[in-house]
Amino acid sequence: MKVHARLSSVAVCLVGLMGVLPAPAPAVDTGDWPGAYTSISGPACPGGARWRMVMLEYSVNGSGATLSRDPSVLRGYQTTLQEAADTVAQASACAVTWDVDIVDMGPRVYDSGRGADPPSAPVQAYKARGYDIVMFRYPSNGDAADFVGKTNTTSWIQFPAGGSHTESVFPWTTVVIHEWLHDAVQQLGGRGELGFPPDDVHWDFWKVEPYASIYASQGAYAVAMAYYTDLIAGRVPVDGKLKGFSSNDWIMWGTPSHPLRQPANLWVDGGRAKPKGWACVRVSSSSAEPVSITIDGPGRRWDTTLSVVPASSNGQAPTATARFRSVRGPWRICAVQPADPSARFVADNECTSLYL
Ligand SMILES: [Zn+2]
Repeated sequence: MKVHARLSSVAVCLVGLMGVLPAPAPAVDTGDWPGAYTSISGPACPGGARWRMVMLEYSVNGSGATLSRDPSVLRGYQTTLQEAADTVAQASACAVTWDVDIVDMGPRVYDSGRGADPPSAPVQAYKARGYDIVMFRYPSNGDAADFVGKTNTTSWIQFPAGGSHTESVFPWTTVVIHEWLHDAVQQLGGRGELGFPPDDVHWDFWKVEPYASIYASQGAYAVAMAYYTDLIAGRVPVDGKLKGFSSNDWIMWGTPSHPLRQPANLWVDGGRAKPKGWACVRVSSSSAEPVSITIDGPGRRWDTTLSVVPASSNGQAPTATARFRSVRGPWRICAVQPADPSARFVADNECTSLYL
């Protein structure tokens, strides 16, 4: 659980008022969950990862507090979502961006209680529709939530909104990016190429340069945006090294609903096979592009092609095997695979040596 509460002075905490209105009867949940009434999308970013997210807008909570449905208010925060998607794309050089569907939950009541986790039924329902993350915007007043955003890092993010000074633009761009970064770190599962600053998203960045100077001269919002964009771009300076997400991290490890888009490595191996006098070559890749194999042995050299099926959703890279007649002696097997046209990796080229 990652709770974004009192992140120094980067974002204020919302403290809801105790509810004084009787709670309305919960809407009957028919399971007929509504679809989007509008969407925002980052730029096209060919070959980049796209996080598909949904924002569920609740206008009333279990304590009877309400949020405005005024179109100008909604446009204000939807503009911040658009800014967040564009910021993510720009910082990553289009290695990752977002599509966010926005859903009006109508008369449904957001009944989480005081900062508890979001209701599980809509999380399950919208995850089943293929969304990577299910987000909630709902009235904080009466629920006394003392955080501005919270995520379980795998499936949902909460944004309690409300209060006279925040509703028009809440959740802020920095808050949405912050919570999503928790989910992205989780998605990477410690497999990043560059490593992360201590406490990754929660590093005390505003205490160290270059962020301390930005904080001093431009304030909390500017320094938060500077740090988050550097994290997305893999350029946070820590002890003389640049940390954060690499472009390959974004593209390779995909999103919760579409993990492991493209393993970096083509893998090739060989060995003896039965019956005697035969050997085998095995290649593994999650790309469906044909693999060109060169087999070079004593007095013999030839080329062949193997095809592996596309990666399964569980991220296991499939293997293809071929047999060849061998003679005793040293062999060398090399495999070349062109980059998947939908990805942006340089083709791998791997060889293996064996003595048969
Ligand atoms: Zn956080």
